[in-house]
Amino acid sequence: MINKIEALLKEIEALKAQSSEELEALRIKYLSKKGEISTLMNDFREVAAEQKREIGQKLNVLKTQAQDKINELKEKLDNSSASEETIDLTRTAYPYPIGTRHPLSIVKKEICAIFAKLGFSIAEGPEIEDDWHVFSSLNFAADHPARDMQDTFFVMHGADILLRTHTSSVQTRVMEKTQPPIRIICPGRVYRNEAISYRAHCFFHQVEALYIDRNVSFADLKQTLLFFAKEMFGAETKIRLRPSFFPFTEPSAEMDISCNLCGGKGCPFCKYTGWVEILGCGMVDPNVLRNCSIDPEIYTGYALGMGIERITNLKYQVKDLRMFSENDVRFLRQFEAAT
Ligand SMILES: [Zn+2]
Repeated sequence: MINKIEALLKEIEALKAQSSEELEALRIKYLSKKGEISTLMNDFREVAAEQKREIGQKLNVLKTQAQDKINELKEKLDNSSASEETIDLTRTAYPYPIGTRHPLSIVKKEICAIFAKLGFSIAEGPEIEDDWHVFSSLNFAADHPARDMQDTFFVMHGADILLRTHTSSVQTRVMEKTQPPIRIICPGRVYRNEAISYRAHCFFHQVEALYIDRNVSFADLKQTLLFFAKEMFGAETKIRLRPSFFPFTEPSAEMDISCNLCGGKGCPFCKYTGWVEILGCGMVDPNVLRNCSIDPEIYTGYALGMGIERITNLKYQVKDLRMFSENDVRFLRQFEAAT
């Protein structure tokens, strides 16, 4: 019997298991009720009394060693499966792509930041508007072509509910509720009934600025425009104003900047004139002030407005307006650095 115990001790010493199934088979072979060790325990009863002490000790050692070996193998298996299946410290992190700001948002942010330096705060309003805030309060004549179905999306025709065609409606809403001084900038999306092409879209984005106080003059407007142009397009930038007409300003002007591609020398982008048009502006028409309960005898003001797409085109030379709304990541990724 001692020989048998010695043989089993050696056997157990050398045990190996590649899987939990193999390990379980070993446990049954040695430690179960009908296993090798239990069988020896049964035989132990027949051992002669003088040998009981020696053999009993050896049997106990065998049992403990078998149990320890099985536990050791189990631990090894658990550890190896954990490191193989769940933790691989050499693997690179998941390459989640970081989003980028839309080019129109980048430029809008930049425009707002420039006007913030001059003390303008941001004002916003609804995109679904009524005739009063979009047209009538802003001095549009009853038969003005902008009211035509050709230009404006009417939501409820009879009730004159429409999608705003410019962000000037926000100016009206602020003037109705606030007495001067008013110094606001209104960024937002506007809608016009245009066929979609590379240079026109049925929606686009504007930023308008409004300043009303005592003694605001055209000279203040011009200085603000010059400051904006230099901040936006560089210190070398020159501006020029051409007379124009808008229902809500008098006098009105359009502003050109010296072409930022050729520096004013003339190139295909500026059609060899050296100038590119960027915005409309003027002194707020006294009728508009009166419509919003602001006394034009006491207060004067200027307003200016520009298309964000137009400014973005000038900065980044995007040739096709439709790219701004298609959200093609190959296009958007190019603005990662500007974000
Ligand atoms: Zn040019």
